[in-house]
Amino acid sequence: MPVEDNLPPQRLSRIVETAGAALTLTAATIAALAPAGAPAAPAPRPAPGRRAPETPYYIMFTSGSTGEPKGVVITHGCLEAFLNWMQVEQALPEGEVFLNQAPYSFDLSIMDTYLALVSGGTIVSVTRHDVAQPKQRHAAFARSGLTVWVSTPSFAQLCLVQRRFAPALLPRLHRFLFCGEMLPHGVAAQLLDRFPEAVVWNTYGPTEATVATTSIRIDREVLTRHSPLPIGYPMPGTRVTVVDEGGRELPSGERGEIVIAGPNVSPGYLRRPDLNARAFFALDGQRAYHTGDWGRLRDGLLFCEGRMDSQIKLHGHRVELGDIESNLRALPGIADAVVLPILWEGRPDALSAFVVMTERGTEPDFDLGNRLRDQLSRRLPVYMLPRQFSFLEKFPLNANGKADRKKLAENLA
Ligand code: AMP
Repeated sequence: MPVEDNLPPQRLSRIVETAGAALTLTAATIAALAPAGAPAAPAPRPAPGRRAPETPYYIMFTSGSTGEPKGVVITHGCLEAFLNWMQVEQALPEGEVFLNQAPYSFDLSIMDTYLALVSGGTIVSVTRHDVAQPKQRHAAFARSGLTVWVSTPSFAQLCLVQRRFAPALLPRLHRFLFCGEMLPHGVAAQLLDRFPEAVVWNTYGPTEATVATTSIRIDREVLTRHSPLPIGYPMPGTRVTVVDEGGRELPSGERGEIVIAGPNVSPGYLRRPDLNARAFFALDGQRAYHTGDWGRLRDGLLFCEGRMDSQIKLHGHRVELGDIESNLRALPGIADAVVLPILWEGRPDALSAFVVMTERGTEPDFDLGNRLRDQLSRRLPVYMLPRQFSFLEKFPLNANGKADRKKLAENLA
């Protein structure tokens, strides 16, 4: 169960408690077990034979709408189904060098790390500093020998801003694999222009269905035919359907919820029967998952059209706005809170919090906002902290008597 070491201690210990972990390893504990310079102990040989497919293999925690992160259990069978598919589809020879950009706590890292392990490749990790600093990033790329790029589209978009991001810097790079968020048409087009020898793949899937379930190679023809880009065809052995509110399969071309059924679907969230009953079910004898994504099939090709709920992708991070709202409401002096994304070119770029205080003192809005952000930083990771705070006496209400998010969003336009 990989967890980010820079999470606030409170959130980290809740995750560890939920998982009931018997042992935690940190860089420091590992260093203490094997002091630098000490001869390496011989690696224990794995027991012969296969693991039962139902054996849990890893658990990834993701943002949960009630403020509690939820642990997605992935079995050995799930991982095997995903890797077998990718290995055959991508036909990767031995000796590839994969980019590892996603932290290990984000399941995109499974794509690079495990594809490298099963194909006899290498991974090259970029650090947080490399991500933030172009100069350092270019130096890392220059010595990397990268051949297969694995990242969120956001990271590639960030790299494309620099002209140096080109074959002269990465001469062996021949493949881009994207997952985790919408691949903008312009990003794919720019990559094909900049790296004419490379192929670009868009893959789609939630953590709950083991990294990715659909894929498509984005070539010039796909770019000409589709905008926005499709997310692909399902992996063999997996059924992807689009259903209406009653769970009935919709005809081709109609918009509904994307449902995934197959051996790559998780058995559920750890110790959350309440959530599992809503999200997971059985379909024709296979495990199935309600993705919460709007989608549409056209001639067997799948398109993703955004979320049905208030989960967003913020610079590649999966964030439930309800997670931030619950944590805000838990702070002293807050009566109610709504968090909305601030959009840039149609995509979430930052967060804005609307807050009703139980009592409003004389503290200026700016200072109060900073104080709340500081308090929130003890509960939430940095990327989930709102940039903007607005204080209201009460929220405008919609016809259902709930805070009118649409009206509040007008303030962000
Ligand atoms: P995560 O579990 O962090 O991988 O997030 C899964 C969600 O990210 C999906 O349910 C989609 O909403 C979104 N997503 C993942 N891949 C894509 C893609 N290729 N295109 C559009 N949205 C995507």
